[in-house]
Amino acid sequence: MLKPVRGLGRFILNNIYKTLFPLKCSSCNKEGSFLCRSCEKKLEYLSKPEQSGTLPVYIEQLISCFPYKDPINSLIILGKYSFMPEVFAYLGKLSAAHLRRQRYDLKSYVLCPIPLSKQRQRWRGFNQSQKLCETFSKELRLPWRNFLERPKNTKTQKDLSRAGRQKNMKNSFALNPNLAAAIKGQQIILVDDVATTGATLSAAAEVLAQASAAKIIALTIARD
Ligand SMILES: [Zn+2]
Repeated sequence: MLKPVRGLGRFILNNIYKTLFPLKCSSCNKEGSFLCRSCEKKLEYLSKPEQSGTLPVYIEQLISCFPYKDPINSLIILGKYSFMPEVFAYLGKLSAAHLRRQRYDLKSYVLCPIPLSKQRQRWRGFNQSQKLCETFSKELRLPWRNFLERPKNTKTQKDLSRAGRQKNMKNSFALNPNLAAAIKGQQIILVDDVATTGATLSAAAEVLAQASAAKIIALTIARD
């Protein structure tokens, strides 16, 4: 497990890391970018969203851009555990281009990131979902708001079973008190990096639905 590295320490480590390990294509190791042009062209996209029926009750549609496998999963892990927010700006741009090609009509929606607990956000230095929202906002010209907070520091979901994930997420989100009244009647896109069992998205959507959001869909980079 990585130890917490904060502020200046993380900044210095990040730069040492970048000097020691120059940017390489996650697929073929060619130097210069997260993915080289030719590997980028070979990426496999998901073309159809999942519709309600197979989804958690408050989520009407789940749009995921990629299957959760290499090189996308390596990039997500690199971004999260080597503290590189620019990976998510890159993945957000790739995904936004895919959404435009697929002609999704999202213009009446507001983007909302899945929040991290304060403790985890301090440790990572950024919230990957917020980084994705900022990128989608620019690329797709949609507003984004931090409607949610995460008061509890929940265990990381990736090592838990399906039932364990649901239990772990229960009551983990709360409304941002400054924006609670603004949720009513909104069409909201919950944004996260990966959807696995949907437990995180479901817990977040429940809080928004209780605050009278008109419609909630979810958008993730990858679907596991
Ligand atoms: Zn490559």
